Amino acid sequence: MGRWRLVIHGGCGAMRLTAEEEAAGLAGLNGALDAGQAVLRPGGTALDAVEAAARQLEDHPAFNAGRGSVLNAEGRIELDAAIMDGRTRAAGAVAGLRTVRSPITAARAVMERSPHVLLSFDGAEEFAREQGLETVDPGWFEIPERRAMLSKVLDAGGAFDADVKYGTIGAVAVDVHGHVAAATSTGGLTAKRWGRIGDSPLIGAGTYADDRAAAISATGSGEYFIRAAAGHELTARMRMLGEDLQTALDAVLADIAELGGKGGLIAVSPQGEAAWGFTTAGMYRGRADAEGRQVAVHGF
Ligand code: ASP
Repeated sequence: MGRWRLVIHGGCGAMRLTAEEEAAGLAGLNGALDAGQAVLRPGGTALDAVEAAARQLEDHPAFNAGRGSVLNAEGRIELDAAIMDGRTRAAGAVAGLRTVRSPITAARAVMERSPHVLLSFDGAEEFAREQGLETVDPGWFEIPERRAMLSKVLDAGGAFDADVKYGTIGAVAVDVHGHVAAATSTGGLTAKRWGRIGDSPLIGAGTYADDRAAAISATGSGEYFIRAAAGHELTARMRMLGEDLQTALDAVLADIAELGGKGGLIAVSPQGEAAWGFTTAGMYRGRADAEGRQVAVHGF
């Protein structure tokens, strides 16, 4: 039996948070670690663990995923998510959901109950309904802080909140059987154009898992993570250059910085290594294994 490990993030950015906001975010991370380790500790799969952790973070309003998601330029919610199983490289993703309570569970349904990898907008909504997934009124996702943030961004000319805060959530895990999995869920960027799809639901960009190398989840300026093919690049560096997990992760973030993007990554390997990194002031993040846990927002 190998060692299990779980790493999660709740987005990165300037992280200028009030004490209450910071405490709420850290509590959210702890709840997600609880949910994920309850799966992994008794020998459950990495796939189940990342879904369980992501669902907790989606429901927590401190993060930009599920409830608490940011609003697009029209003041509406459009949710993206992806999940991937490193054992088989099976993957599922959704984009532009408006009423499905847990986008990560919808992504898993696409993976397991359809022949496709990515469903979007009305097609994804209809599929989720057919699968009997829980739906909510779009208003359920909205919290007043995100509406205020949208007004601020629109007043400033509609520029993305690139330097403010990315609150996407993600989870990566390795289970005692040595399999890895990744999950990412997001509301995207404040004031995004409707129909915009970021890196999170794109397999190989913001989400990737491959038992031959690593599982990753990203947060940050999604367009740059797409252009860098961040997730696939990280695992390719490990497989083809023989880089270790942290070296490959740092190299991908450096490449994205060179393009002009910023953000963060979390990763685990089938050997039980864990790594994270970010090029913003902070990142909500946490890790847990049999020896204990750590949650943080600032520093490294
Ligand atoms: N990467 C996400 C996106 O571009 C945003 C985030 O990390 O909060 O949709």
